[in-house]
Amino acid sequence: MLEQARTPLPWHEPLWAALAAQQQFAHAYLFCGPAGAGKRRFAAAFAGWLMCDQPGPQGPCQQCRSCLLRQAGSHPDLLLIEPEEEGKAIRVDAIRQLVGFINQTAQQGGRKVVVLHPAEAMNQNAANALLKSLEEPTAETYLLLISDQPSRLLPTIRSRCRVQPLGLPGLQRAQDWLGAELPDVDDSQRTLLLQMAMGAPLRALDLHQQGAVAQREKVVDGVKALLKGQISAPRLAEQWNSIALDLLLDWFAAWTLELLKLNQGAQETASSADMDKVLGYLASRIQASELLDWQDWLLQHRRQFDNKANLNRQLFLEKLLARWKMLAERR
Ligand SMILES: [Zn+2]
Repeated sequence: MLEQARTPLPWHEPLWAALAAQQQFAHAYLFCGPAGAGKRRFAAAFAGWLMCDQPGPQGPCQQCRSCLLRQAGSHPDLLLIEPEEEGKAIRVDAIRQLVGFINQTAQQGGRKVVVLHPAEAMNQNAANALLKSLEEPTAETYLLLISDQPSRLLPTIRSRCRVQPLGLPGLQRAQDWLGAELPDVDDSQRTLLLQMAMGAPLRALDLHQQGAVAQREKVVDGVKALLKGQISAPRLAEQWNSIALDLLLDWFAAWTLELLKLNQGAQETASSADMDKVLGYLASRIQASELLDWQDWLLQHRRQFDNKANLNRQLFLEKLLARWKMLAERR
């Protein structure tokens, strides 16, 4: 079911105002931008607004029949297409359902809206099937595509949509918003969450719900123990069993970036207070060329992970940790 968002997030309000003031709408939009920026919420509010019988400048009225049906999750003219399971592909069957939906008459007599998320999850067949619908728009029917990685979409899909970037708020705004969402979490934890989320507020909220702060502590302790020779790479990889691989990859990538900065003479790093000492020590021992090799290796594996390649988690982590330790032990 789609979120019950009446309004977009505060940092997307100017964009919303510009969109809501338009007289005519594109039949397909591609909302793109970093994960956790609030794209899905924007699309949900926009879908509700397009379908509302008496939309106001701020959003749907929440009182008309269309809004009531939508709030109950049973509006027959609103379709959400997403993977059956998170991380899985959107298959051609789902797109056939979409095609059937847009070819039928609106049951409530108003507009029809499809929200497709995440668009890059469509496999080749699904993307080709969607392309046909994009080429032959149906009156009063709107497709809202959402994507964190629009570069992975077929260029022909992108070019048939109005591309609408939805960015992140500035740090202060993100902190204020997260403060209101997590009033019981202290300031330093919220700052850490936002750092881990690379400034994306909804991602930060999600990380909090995953218990990422405690996981981060565990990982930092583990890295220190590994470098001191108190634990082996395979044993440590095992201990990190319950920690999401994308988080681990993000952290190592961020540390590597800071090592490169330190290596080039930066005096201090801004974003890894819990690793400052370790990074300072490592930066004094590692050459830039070794760091760049290591960064390439990480990026390559990140791509494999993003492309859903089958990584053997335990083996991959063992290799990663062994390489990391080797970096510190050179000369
Ligand atoms: Zn309404």
